[in-house]
Amino acid sequence: MKTPSQIIKEIKQTLPADVKLVAVSKFHPVSMIEDAYAGGQRLFAENHVQELQQKHEVLPNDIEWHFIGHLQTNKVKYIAPYVHLIHAVDTHKLLVEINKQAQKNNRVIDCLLELHVAQEETKFGFSADEMYDYVRQGEWRQLENVRICGLMCMASNVEDESQIANEFQQAENLFKRLKQDFFAQEDSFSIRSWGMSDDYPIAIKYGSNMIRVGSRIFGPRVY
Ligand SMILES: *Cc1c(COP(=O)(O)O)cnc(C)c1O
Repeated sequence: MKTPSQIIKEIKQTLPADVKLVAVSKFHPVSMIEDAYAGGQRLFAENHVQELQQKHEVLPNDIEWHFIGHLQTNKVKYIAPYVHLIHAVDTHKLLVEINKQAQKNNRVIDCLLELHVAQEETKFGFSADEMYDYVRQGEWRQLENVRICGLMCMASNVEDESQIANEFQQAENLFKRLKQDFFAQEDSFSIRSWGMSDDYPIAIKYGSNMIRVGSRIFGPRVY
């Protein structure tokens, strides 16, 4: 059986130079993260605050911890001291809270806005129109301790590759419009976080430069 670090190495060999691989370690033990870390991996993602807290405490300090799931406002304070990137900002209220907690920790927290493109109703995020309006309206500009660095999305969990491609294409199109209309001067607005174990090759064709890969690296999750 291949180890996480071997699989990461294999995946990285296939990625274009500008695509970052975030290893999604949720539900997997610290020992597996340590194996990936020993192989040089530094970007890891979790989607539960408590689990992230526990892992952050025992693992090396130079890991960049990404938060990828739905984040409740009352839990932001726990991860605010160290989180590197929050992927799924889906409301202004959440961004306000991240800003407040970042301020308390005397730092700026990088965030992505979550775009809802999938057909599943349960997935969070702005629609394309909502996100464009939100960014245009500009209330977020007053939040000096958060930095909007790009977009995140999840495609539908379907076999139909043309549908997945279409959803990533929507994300890429919106990213380009926002970049051109509101962030042309901000080099930091550059992150396109889409693509997971089953669909990252498609995501890369449609502009992704940050893929979030879990089960392909660490095996199936036991919930
Ligand atoms: C779990 C998760 C992933 C990784 O999924 P895999 O299919 O295991 O690669 C990526 N993004 C988000 C938001 C997730 O919750």
